[in-house]
Amino acid sequence: MHYDYNELIPECQVLPDTTTKLIDEGGRIDWRGKKMANEHLALAYSSFDKSKAERLATCSTFLQFKVYSNGTKKLSSMNSCHVRLCPICSWRRSLKVYANIRQATEFLTEKYNRRYILVTLTVPNCPPERLTEVLNRMFKAFNRFNQLKPIKTAFTGFYRALEVTRNCNPKSPLFGTYHPHFHCLFSVKKSYFNSRYYLSHDTIVKLWEASMRRNELDYLWYRVPDANHPWQCDIRKVRGDLAKSCAEVAKYSVKSSDIIVPEDIEVTSHIAQTLDKALERRRLVSYGGELAEVRRTLKLDDEESGDLVHIENDIPTEEDYQVVNYFWFSGFRDYFEI
Ligand SMILES: [Zn+2]
Repeated sequence: MHYDYNELIPECQVLPDTTTKLIDEGGRIDWRGKKMANEHLALAYSSFDKSKAERLATCSTFLQFKVYSNGTKKLSSMNSCHVRLCPICSWRRSLKVYANIRQATEFLTEKYNRRYILVTLTVPNCPPERLTEVLNRMFKAFNRFNQLKPIKTAFTGFYRALEVTRNCNPKSPLFGTYHPHFHCLFSVKKSYFNSRYYLSHDTIVKLWEASMRRNELDYLWYRVPDANHPWQCDIRKVRGDLAKSCAEVAKYSVKSSDIIVPEDIEVTSHIAQTLDKALERRRLVSYGGELAEVRRTLKLDDEESGDLVHIENDIPTEEDYQVVNYFWFSGFRDYFEI
C-alpha cells in the first residue's frame, strides 16, 4: 500500500529552492532546504548543547536511494540524529506517525466498524519560562481526562500528539509566547453519536478544563483568561476521508518555522533551548485503549525511536533498481551524487 504523504502533510511539500536534483517519493521533497534548516539549528544548539549540535550537523549527510526502472526514487538509507527538533528527523517522524495512525484506524474501522472524532485540547498561551510547567500540567491532565467515567464510556481508544506553536508575529501582544495543545483522535462505536453517552462540545471542554484544574492555574498564563470564557477546543466528527484526518493529527511536534529565525542565530538559540528543555524526556505521541491494542497487534514501529528511513514495512520487490548515493557538502551547501 502506498500513501501520498506529501499531498496530505503540508510541511512535506517542496520549498521553492530546488537547485539540487534530488527527488524522492513523488519528486517534491527539498532535501537541500531541509538540510540547510538543520545546519542553522545545529549552529543554534552549539551555544548550549555541543553534543546535540554535533549530532544535528552530521544528520542526513549521507542519503541512499533506490532508483527504479520507471524513474521513481525511494530512500533506502540515511544517517538520522533523532534530535527532537531536527527539521529532517521531525519530518520523517511525522510521516511515520501518519502511516501508523492510518493503519491502526483502518484496522479498527474494518474490524469493528469504528468511527472517529478529532479533538484539539488547548490551554491559553504561556510565556517561555512557564512552558515546562504548563506541559507537566497538561500531561497529568490528559491522564486524568482519560480516567473520567464519561470519557471512558464514550471513547474506545485514543491517539494523542503534542504540538507546541510559538507566536511569531512581532505586532501581536502574544508575540514570543507559546501555545501547547494536544491533537487527539478518539475512536467511538458507530452508535455513539445517537447514544445517551454522547458528549457535546461544551461537555468535553468542561471535562478538559476540570482535568487541567483550570481554576488554580491563572498564574501560568501570559494573561489571566476571562473566567466566563471557555478555552477554545476544536471538536469534530471525522466524515469521509479518514486519511485527511490522520494527516491532521500527524503534525510536527514543533514546526521548524516556529524555531528557526533565519536572520537571528541568538533568538533561534534561545527558542531551541526553551523547547529542547520543555520537551525533554516526554512521550510526544501516545496511544490508549483499542488504538494501543491495535498498534501492538500490527507491530507498528515506534514513532520516536524507530527507523526514520522506512516509513512502513517495505514489501520486498522483484523490481530492478539501481542504488544512488548522495553526500552533503557543507561548504557548497548542497548534496552531490557520488
Ligand atoms: Zn536529524
